Amino acid sequence: MTFLNDLYQEVILDHNRRPRNYGELDDPNGQAQGYNPFCGDRVNVAIRKKNGAIEDVKFTGSGCAISTASASIMTEVLKGKSEEEARQLCQKFLDMVTGKREVDSEGDDDLEKLLVFHRLSEYPVRVKCATLVWHALLAALESKNREVTTEDI
Ligand code: ZN
Repeated sequence: MTFLNDLYQEVILDHNRRPRNYGELDDPNGQAQGYNPFCGDRVNVAIRKKNGAIEDVKFTGSGCAISTASASIMTEVLKGKSEEEARQLCQKFLDMVTGKREVDSEGDDDLEKLLVFHRLSEYPVRVKCATLVWHALLAALESKNREVTTEDI
């Protein structure tokens, strides 16, 4: 991952080594599976919504360092967010990593945590690794228990 600067690389490797919120979730009421055929990444996202907010979110699966780190950071950021906030953050993240839009993270702690992926827009194949779990999350929010692939996107 020589394309990432040292700091970002260190964060990604740390999340890959010790993924946060990895494991089975008790009593999920939304889940979805994601598959990225380009890299072989598989990720399952399970959420428990309560009163319009994400009370808890966990993931399982296996994939490359970028997909695992993306899932780990995403679950950290989303816990406790309302569904609306989660969708907005998802959109900002997708805009940022695909390079569609410059994202201003100033004063936005959540987006700042996701900045480790912002240079990925220069590497389209790796973008799929990072966005996979977010697309699975959107499906889980819709309570569609199905598989999404990077080709649906
Ligand atoms: Zn990957």
